[in-house]
This record gives sequence, C-alpha cells and structure tokens, in this order.
Amino acid sequence: MADRHLISRVRRETRRRTLTVASVEPRGDILLRIWFVGDDLAGFVSDAPDDHVKLFLPDGEGGVVARDYTPRRFDAAAQTLAIEFALHGEDEDAGPATRWAMHAQPGDTLEIGGPRGSTIVADDFDWYLLIGDETALPAIGRRLDELRPEAEVIVLASIAHGSVRPELPGRARLTVQWLDRTSLQHAGAEFLDALDAMSLPDGEGFVWIAAEAAAARAVRTFVAETRGHPKSWIKASGYWVAGEMGAHTKIEE
Ligand SMILES: Cc1cc2nc3c(=O)[nH]c(=O)nc-3n(C[C@H](O)[C@H](O)[C@H](O)COP(=O)(O)OP(=O)(O)OC[C@H]3O[C@@H](n4cnc5c(N)ncnc54)[C@H](O)[C@@H]3O)c2cc1C
Repeated sequence: MADRHLISRVRRETRRRTLTVASVEPRGDILLRIWFVGDDLAGFVSDAPDDHVKLFLPDGEGGVVARDYTPRRFDAAAQTLAIEFALHGEDEDAGPATRWAMHAQPGDTLEIGGPRGSTIVADDFDWYLLIGDETALPAIGRRLDELRPEAEVIVLASIAHGSVRPELPGRARLTVQWLDRTSLQHAGAEFLDALDAMSLPDGEGFVWIAAEAAAARAVRTFVAETRGHPKSWIKASGYWVAGEMGAHTKIEE
C-alpha cells in the first residue's frame, strides 16, 4: 500500500516561553526529570517523541547559550511539561544545561523555544528498534508511551558503567537490553557488539538511533550497510559530540 510507513515533517511557528520549575525527580542516578509549569505553556504542541525544545541557559559569564532537550511529557490540561536531563560530569566540568539541572529548585525559571519542527514516523511498522545512550532515554521513553500498544519494540540502551538504570515505561511487546558502557569503549562499540549478536524480528521495522555523534554514525552504518536495513526506515542523530560544547549532528537519512 502506497500510504504505508509514511515519514512526514511538520514545521511550526515558535515563540519563547518562560517556565517555572515545579518539581525535580531523580530517575536512577543518571537522569533528572524536571516538571515545569506556567501559563506560557498555553498553545504548546509537540507532535513527535523525538522533538526538541531549545533551552536558553546562563553560560556563567553573563551570556546565554542554547541546548536541545526532548519534551518528555506534556499535559495540555494541567499545563505541565517534563524534561529529563542526563547527568554527565561533576559540577565543575558539566556543561551549562547539566549544571543548571543539577541545581534546579522549585520556583526557578527557564526560557525555552520550540519545537520548531517534527518528524512524524507512522505508527504502522511491525517493530521499532530504539537505540541510544542516556540522552536518548527521554525520547525512547516517550515513544514507548505513545506507540500503539501492539507494536513490538526493542530498546538497546547504553549507560555508563555502574549507573542505576532508570525505569522505562512498560509495554506488552517490549524487550529492553541495557548495555554497560565502560570508558574503554569508543564510537558505539557496545551497540555494535549487541547488534551483531541480535536477530531482528520478522516484518518491517523502523530503527531510531540517538547517541554521541560518532557512535550514532557507526550504528547507522552497521544497520544500513551490514544489515541492509532500508535507509529510509532509519533515523539517526548525534545528540552530542564528545569534546564539543553545545554540539549535535544531523546524520544523513
Ligand atoms: C534533538 C536532541 C534532543 C536531545 N534531548 C536530550 C534530552 O532530552 N536529555 C538530555 O540529557 N540530552 C538531550 N540531548 C543532548 C544534549 O543537548 C547534549 O548532551 C548537550 O550537549 C548538553 O548540554 P550541556 O550544556 O550540559 O553540555 P555542553 O556544554 O554541550 O558540553 C560540555 C561537555 O560535556 C560533553 N557532553 C555533552 N553531553 C554529554 C553527555 N550526555 N555525556 C557525556 N558528556 C557529554 C561535551 O562533549 C562537552 O565536552 C538532546 C540533543 C538533541 C540534538
């Protein structure tokens, strides 16, 4: 059928919104879920689980920097928005967004913009393979919440060695494989080992990848070239770049 497996893009006008922290909730020891409230959330729309909003944060030197984060859960009736921050680095070497989240208290305010655009993946694939590191867990969690209940979902989640796993939403046909990432592994080696040992389900599937840019690129190459998965059914993004501040990469689709 011609209209199966549609992947469409929508654009939206954006405006800046000022939100107030309502609560801070640790999830395992690698994610902090922060709930925001505010009348400014009126009219907020996020069409896809891997949307992002821009957070505008103090850079510590009187300036402002922008960082991308996933709207993890939006409740239009209650006008609340949750964002989950992956915690990396100690206080002094964490980036501005992570540092802001580590110190956030109810009553603090934050300016956001977006989402400016969404990639909407049809909810008619037989299965979904969601691959990512800590920064991808919010988008993975949201997709687990939003996909139709009977879809088969496999999650490959890489977290730093020794971390406490955050709970993911449960589903009927869900397999979660946690990968223990040691500092000796580079460029997605843990994903490649796991994928090499994995047989993909029968039927047609969509593969979503988000992680450090070199890792995401290596995983995409493996899925597309080694496994021969159709490129149009893969979406890969570099959510951060090792050693670079505020960087992200769009990986060719
Ligand atoms: C579309 C999109 C959605 C995203 N959604 C989320 C989300 O929901 N939650 C989330 O936590 N992140 C998310 N990210 C990733 C987040 O934007 C980056 O991790 C960002 O760089 C963090 O900003 P920072 O100010 O803390 O650090 P930066 O100032 O950007 O970087 C400081 C240093 O920390 C390093 N660094 C950055 N991120 C990490 C990391 N995760 N682990 C280890 N080192 C790191 C950098 O390489 C740099 O050396 C998303 C990115 C994109 C593109």
